[in-house]
Amino acid sequence: MLLLNVCCAPCCLPLLEPAGRDLTIFFDGPNLAPAEEYDRRLAATKKVAELYQLPFLTGQYDHDAWLKYVGGQLARPAAEYAENSERCRACFKFRLQRTAFLAKERGFDGFATTLSVSRHKDVPFINQYGRELADKLWLKYRTFDLDPRQADQQGRDLCRQHGIYRQKYCGCEFSIASGA
Ligand code: SF4
Repeated sequence: MLLLNVCCAPCCLPLLEPAGRDLTIFFDGPNLAPAEEYDRRLAATKKVAELYQLPFLTGQYDHDAWLKYVGGQLARPAAEYAENSERCRACFKFRLQRTAFLAKERGFDGFATTLSVSRHKDVPFINQYGRELADKLWLKYRTFDLDPRQADQQGRDLCRQHGIYRQKYCGCEFSIASGA
């Protein structure tokens, strides 16, 4: 039984086949801003869960807690950091912790994250931190043997095919201007 952390539909779609049927989608976007963007991504991911007939869980939309955690890990204001810097690593940690704790609490064997196949993210860091958390909690951390560029294209194609919303920036308010 695998809990898959998802913050958008396009990154989720290419993973559904390799992940197998024993899977629950966990939509979690405390990083997302503004709130309307959270709503759009939530609706899009729900549509994916319905299409593939998969169980679906949602995390609490607590953007203030995300801002506090991320800000607390940084020496300078979060807005001053570029994508894939310390700000993003703090963001990954916050989201991976929530996923791992939920997996433990709900009796899953392990967890995974769509972040681990992103062509834009620090995947080695994400996987190392995911494994550390999993080890601490006696869970499995699952990765996928997918080419990030192919997965990205597949996500775009599947969104187009099913008429699913695909966002133009990573997620937080700091990434809107950069389109990252
Ligand atoms: S750019 Fe993306 S990964 Fe980085 S802090 Fe913002 S939401 Fe998180």
